[in-house]
Amino acid sequence: MDSEDGLQLVQSVPGFKTRGMLICVSGPSGVGKGTVIAQLKEIMPGLAHSVSLTTRSPRPGEVDGKDYYFCTKERFEELLEEDAILEHDIYVGNYYGTPRQAIEEKVSEGQDVIMDVTVPGSLAILYKYEQACSIFLLPPSLSVLRERLEKRGTETSDIVNSRLLKAVDEVEMASKFDYIVINQDKRKAAEEIRHIIYAEKLRQARRSGIEQMILKR
Ligand code: 5GP
Repeated sequence: MDSEDGLQLVQSVPGFKTRGMLICVSGPSGVGKGTVIAQLKEIMPGLAHSVSLTTRSPRPGEVDGKDYYFCTKERFEELLEEDAILEHDIYVGNYYGTPRQAIEEKVSEGQDVIMDVTVPGSLAILYKYEQACSIFLLPPSLSVLRERLEKRGTETSDIVNSRLLKAVDEVEMASKFDYIVINQDKRKAAEEIRHIIYAEKLRQARRSGIEQMILKR
């Protein structure tokens, strides 16, 4: 293991460069994607996190440019027209989307990027980037999910109910994903995702040509 900086996660050879990997994490609202990703970034500080655009209002404590880029519906639609958004979805009445330029720059620099997106968002990324890796985060039970959504206390009960209804549909899409991680414990979930990333970095398809470099050494 060379370092944890995200550019050089696994043993390699000097001069062998790979493109960064996109790691899409989906799962029902309230499952703890944000918390698990924050934990993952603690143990893998070099991992880049894609900051999405959204038209929903900031929750207390959320910071523009860190949690999301908050914008109006009109601005979002302008960016869509300009093709500045890699994928987008409408979730419970609001637009959410991934800014294209930042992601493409990071990936071409060889940096791995983790993205927290809806199920259709992950499927759109997988369609565009066949080497992207997809992870579905599940709650240990539906009742735990309800509890987490209610505890958050940032949404009205109507919104909690629509998010729960949507959760059932989303969970049924888990079979479309490469990996399933259960978020019973955020540390274990982050650890499991770290192992997934390591294994994915070692795939032959991501290291194609390394054997030729080794033969010349
Ligand atoms: P929340 O309002 O709870 O922050 O996010 C609602 C949903 O939008 C979550 O499932 C989250 O994963 C998803 N989401 C956040 N950013 C994006 C994005 O850029 N694209 C897509 N497709 N979904 C996103």
